[in-house]
Amino acid sequence: MEVIVNAAMSADGKLSSVRREQIDISGPADFDRVDGLRADADAVMVGIGTVLADDPHLTVKDPANVREREERGKPPHPARVIADSRARVPTDAAALDDLAATYALVTDAAPTDRIDAIERANAEVIRTGGDRVDLSAAFDRLAEHGIDRLLVEGGGELLYSVFDAGLVDTLSVYVGDLIIGGRNAPTLVDGEGFVDAFPELSLTDVERIDSGVLLTWAVSGSDRSPRRR
Ligand code: NAP
Repeated sequence: MEVIVNAAMSADGKLSSVRREQIDISGPADFDRVDGLRADADAVMVGIGTVLADDPHLTVKDPANVREREERGKPPHPARVIADSRARVPTDAAALDDLAATYALVTDAAPTDRIDAIERANAEVIRTGGDRVDLSAAFDRLAEHGIDRLLVEGGGELLYSVFDAGLVDTLSVYVGDLIIGGRNAPTLVDGEGFVDAFPELSLTDVERIDSGVLLTWAVSGSDRSPRRR
């Protein structure tokens, strides 16, 4: 499975504010680019933190992109994937509507009544991991469902884990023309943080879009070398 991470961050590396409210970091040309990325993906993934903060649909917005998917024999929208260890996703979440298939990745410890509720609300539940979702195992299960190209959109907690598990092939980051600040505001990669084996990136493209810049990086495999000074 090919895994692409795409997100927009402020010039100081924040995905949103300390209030965790969604902020327009990029502009119309970048929205179009992201819509195209979604249209090219079999599934779009976020963490439950993003679902609870933003309630995103994660669907393709441009009708021309929807049509083009259908011409390729694909469903109109990519599937949605939510990393949600404890099955907390609200059953009326936009990502559980009937516009597209939805997979909720939960752990073996997730409450049965919540799993039942999510299944009744249009989502397929995939159970892996004890404390948190085992992303490697979950991605294997998603591949069995025909998901060959997965777009991961955030937030920072989930992105740390996908990098930590060595699952990312490409990182594209739009860097917007604003400062958000705040020590507790989500950054591109949060989690526990790397201390001595940092995922290595190789810059493949730099593009000016709207009033910011899109950086595209290839991500090295699991061969992570220490870089401490
Ligand atoms: P997040 O990364 O969306 O979700 C994190 C949650 O996912 C965890 O707390 C955990 O909750 C669950 N999870 C399940 N398995 C996991 C695993 N293996 N590794 C990590 N997490 C796992 O939440 P966030 O970091 O708080 O980010 C949300 C913020 O990011 C929002 O403010 C949103 O607006 C922003 N955002 C911005 C962009 C952008 O492009 N600018 C994109 C996306 C999001 P459980 O343990 O309960 O399951």
